[in-house]
Amino acid sequence: MEANKFNDEIGHPEIQEQLLNSIKTDRLPHAFIFYGNEGCGKEAFAIEVAKLLNCEKGPLFICQNCSSCLKISHLQHPDIQFIFPTPSTGNVKPEDIGESIREKAQNPYRRVRFRGKNSFISIDTVRDLKREAKYKLYEGQKKVFIISEADEMRPEAANALLKILEEPPANLMLILITSRIHRILPTIRSRCQLIHFAPLDGDQVVKIIHKYQPDPPEHLSRIIRLALANIKLAFDFIEEDVLEQRDLAVDFLRKVVIIEKSQELLALIDKITASRDRRQMGQLLFFLLTWFKDALHCQADPTRNEYLINMDLTQNLQGFVKGYPGADYAGSIAAVQDAVRELEDPRNLNPTLIFNNLAIKLNSLIKRN
Ligand SMILES: [Zn+2]
Repeated sequence: MEANKFNDEIGHPEIQEQLLNSIKTDRLPHAFIFYGNEGCGKEAFAIEVAKLLNCEKGPLFICQNCSSCLKISHLQHPDIQFIFPTPSTGNVKPEDIGESIREKAQNPYRRVRFRGKNSFISIDTVRDLKREAKYKLYEGQKKVFIISEADEMRPEAANALLKILEEPPANLMLILITSRIHRILPTIRSRCQLIHFAPLDGDQVVKIIHKYQPDPPEHLSRIIRLALANIKLAFDFIEEDVLEQRDLAVDFLRKVVIIEKSQELLALIDKITASRDRRQMGQLLFFLLTWFKDALHCQADPTRNEYLINMDLTQNLQGFVKGYPGADYAGSIAAVQDAVRELEDPRNLNPTLIFNNLAIKLNSLIKRN
């Protein structure tokens, strides 16, 4: 029988092989960067790596059942640290961080987050890590520090991390995780082994959802389609009323093209930005993007709908595309992507302005003749 190694649904077999080989040949680096699109299972994979390096039945084996494997699964192993962006110290309670860790342990594919707050990895966090790295092992065989969303490090934190990478203590494995590799300092990148993670395929997404969400919603297939195989997004969508958010996006678009009703548009923008929850606003932009991508498809070939992300809105989409034959959808996609970037920039303090500008741009892009 094939030895029980990585968790069944973990996927990425080539990367599993690569890791096992580096251990066999004693060429394990001190630090990895796992990069690739959001929601392809990088964090879940890093947790498995921590088990691989610490399983009591090892090496080259993960039993999933020894005390070490179980503690790591629960993210409660004293030699394993799971770091993620948090609001500044004054804005977050330690018990909330504990709760996030517990949720992550229950489902390693879900997002760890603090709604509506500006989160980052602070220099204090990295200093704690540096101190922790010097201690002897508590009970494991190798310390593993997993830094999720490593691109959310402030420059001073990144420089502190660089110090650890320059003189890595023996018995420490650092795993940085990012879906925005371009935001990681080149000096950090050059000291880590980079591993690219490809997106999960549809079957794997379904398998993972059924494992961690035993009672999935009725419209699961629609959600998976909308989440574009991003497993993190799929779990967000299961948790929230995502279809309502999409309705809001479609409503926004409807009002954008009817300039005579600008009062209604402004009222809607107020509604969208009232919560101050940038992630939710980002979700709305995400749905605008899916709409325009679909519109491009419809424009190219109105007879086929099997590629549409919003397949359930085929008729609305076709009507829209027919109504605005001169629309520039590629330009519209670029305009929404600009808005996404502006919204993600914490220096940008006025989301209402971002949506107002987007509305004006989209109006002229869609209503071209
Ligand atoms: Zn084990």
